Amino acid sequence: MDAVSTEMMIVMQEGSPSEDVDRILERLESAGASGIVSTSDVVTVIAVMGERDVVAGLPLEAYPGVDKVLPILKPYKLVSRDFRRSDTVITVKGTSLGGGHVALIAGPCSVESRAQVFEAAESAKASGATMLRGGAYKPRTSPYAFQGLGVEGLQILAEASKATGMPVVTELMDPRHLDDVALYSDVIQIGARNMQNFQLLSAVGQVDRPVLLKRGLAATIEELLMAAEYIVKEGNENVILCERGIRTFETATRNTLDISAVPILKQRSHLPVVVDPSHAAGKIELVEPLSLAAIAAGADGLMIEMHPTPEIALSDGAQSLNPKQFAKVAARIEEFVAWFGKQMG
Ligand code: PEP
Ligand code: MN
Repeated sequence: MDAVSTEMMIVMQEGSPSEDVDRILERLESAGASGIVSTSDVVTVIAVMGERDVVAGLPLEAYPGVDKVLPILKPYKLVSRDFRRSDTVITVKGTSLGGGHVALIAGPCSVESRAQVFEAAESAKASGATMLRGGAYKPRTSPYAFQGLGVEGLQILAEASKATGMPVVTELMDPRHLDDVALYSDVIQIGARNMQNFQLLSAVGQVDRPVLLKRGLAATIEELLMAAEYIVKEGNENVILCERGIRTFETATRNTLDISAVPILKQRSHLPVVVDPSHAAGKIELVEPLSLAAIAAGADGLMIEMHPTPEIALSDGAQSLNPKQFAKVAARIEEFVAWFGKQMG
């Protein structure tokens, strides 16, 4: 698709037949523009992509089945609540996220060995986790720190997924690894450091895998939504937004969890929102209170680091729960989720 913007949307009348939509799409195409159709609401909405002058000259309001033509005022278009009012629900391997379904994504920071991942996966699952996380390609501040096991790590995750039934979330750092990551995992994570790696975003926009997009360390909410727009614009509508803490002057925590980002993102976008209290806090004892706060604020999921033996973890041991600690936190999360009238997975 050309670098054209979506400035307006066509809201169809309730119950308008698909031929009405097709007629408009054909007209847009013949004028050198195009339309992206959202059908998940009661009414169908078409986002118009094209040069402003061309689109403005089309008598779109006069077409049969059209209720109204409205401008999309936000800089992000397809991820905006204006375009789609209902929550996007993402389902992988029978477990859902969004629209009242809450995901509990748990596992180690890094894949270190088969035994470590299996132990983590089995205890996470027994405690109620709905998805497994683990990094095979690690973004490390130091080039001398453990960088991850690469493809071998992905294969271990896939085996653990098969054994437990939990879908796998794992980070992609380099478009050259996209085929391998898509082959062995179910959800592709874009880490905080790559939130504005626009070529990486466009690349994951072209694959049939949900993407968990983490907020950059110094990114605004609008920049996060614009990054999500890069992915959705390429055709991949299944993006999960993740608040994982931002850099502030505060030194008591590793980062500052921006809890207000949760309701703001939910208001502005139809995409599900997940909170990662582990990277936000950097401390085991803050994982439970921040998780509960996230659920109370309306999060659709949590991503929590846990490890069979955090003392010997190759990365992020200080923020990783052991299986016993994770079981306790998971039980509290389940209570909260039920209290808010939602369900796990
Ligand atoms: C991670 O999830 O292990 C990670 C590196 O997270 P972030 O990109 O949020 O720092
Ligand atoms: Mn980590």
